[in-house]
Amino acid sequence: MDRPTIYLDHAATTAVDPRVVDAMLPYFTAYYGNPSSVHHKGRESQKAMEEARRAVAEMLNCDPREIVFTSCGTESDNLAIRGVALAARHRKVVERPHIITSPIEHHAVSHTCEQLAKLFDCEVTVLPVDEYGLVNPTDLEQAIRPNTVLVSIMYANNEVGTIQTIAELAGVARARRIPFHTDAVQAGGSLDLNVYRLGVDLLSLSAHKFYGPKGVGLLYRRQGVPLLPLQTGGSHEGNRRAGTENVPYIVGLTKALELAQTGQAEENVRLVGLRDRLIAGVLERIPHARLTGHPTQRLSNSASFVFEYVEGEGILLLLDHEGICGSSGSACTSAEIEPSHVLTAMGVPVEVAHGSLRLTLGRENTDADVDRVLEVLPPIIQRLRDMSPLYPG
Ligand code: PLP
Repeated sequence: MDRPTIYLDHAATTAVDPRVVDAMLPYFTAYYGNPSSVHHKGRESQKAMEEARRAVAEMLNCDPREIVFTSCGTESDNLAIRGVALAARHRKVVERPHIITSPIEHHAVSHTCEQLAKLFDCEVTVLPVDEYGLVNPTDLEQAIRPNTVLVSIMYANNEVGTIQTIAELAGVARARRIPFHTDAVQAGGSLDLNVYRLGVDLLSLSAHKFYGPKGVGLLYRRQGVPLLPLQTGGSHEGNRRAGTENVPYIVGLTKALELAQTGQAEENVRLVGLRDRLIAGVLERIPHARLTGHPTQRLSNSASFVFEYVEGEGILLLLDHEGICGSSGSACTSAEIEPSHVLTAMGVPVEVAHGSLRLTLGRENTDADVDRVLEVLPPIIQRLRDMSPLYPG
């Protein structure tokens, strides 16, 4: 690639901050003990891990014992949902555990719910969303049944950036004493994670979305919420997740979260400025284009669109040729391209959903990056449309 990279796919993953790497390094070579060992090498690692747990708990405003370190956001979602549903089955609190979720969840949540319905005799209700991807609290209220054991609704959407009214939704569940889980994987770098203010009982995070390493996440689980461990073995993580803890990565997650929270308000203002200029510029320059997701109640770094008469994959390839990394909601399967389940749930017609583009900004992006996208994207869309037999011209 001879052009400089403009990385606009921060919702997929981020580069690890060098300060995070520095914090992690000693735990690979100098402090390598197993935190379960009783000798001093073990105690060093144990101390680092418990300090990390305390620091994370302080940032989330919870008790350190309520933090379970995991291997990723997907694992945290699985542990929360399957863990609560199977605990309810095991304890026979209801005959058929009922879960309420939304149609715009990441597959880590939706496929877990689908498997529980198919193989574990659970019932699942998928609430509708409006054109912006928002869940209506009244719909949640009405979907609750006597056998509801869990509500799982994401904090912020990975494809369109819409931020749910989580505190309000969690309040509905709380009033009926039903545990509320939120997938906060996309919210970790920019939104309030105070679990007390949010009123949630379970919350998933993943470090690689906020300049931490891939392969480490956490689940906040309010004390007293019954949870069946999915991984059995040793008594790690308070018997909720067996397996020797990944101390360097736990230290890295904690450092990354600290950095994300420092100066977060200023960075959000800067990103919103870039985001809104990008959105306005794209909509101004490209006909038959529209913004997807909520116009204002959206992640500070997220700009997402649909363009009629084009395929998202084509846009991505031509953008990549210009050194620009973006993403599309469509997922290529073996024979055909599946439209995004998020967009179709929001009422975007299937043929339009195929032309989706997501550009997600990050710390290193500048005004010049936005200018470059505004320069190259309109001719790319035009070129693709000129090749489409459907384009009216
Ligand atoms: N949930 C959401 C909303 C995500 O965006 C992602 C990753 O894209 C995940 C869960 C999965 O996280 P991980 O990649 O850490 O497994």
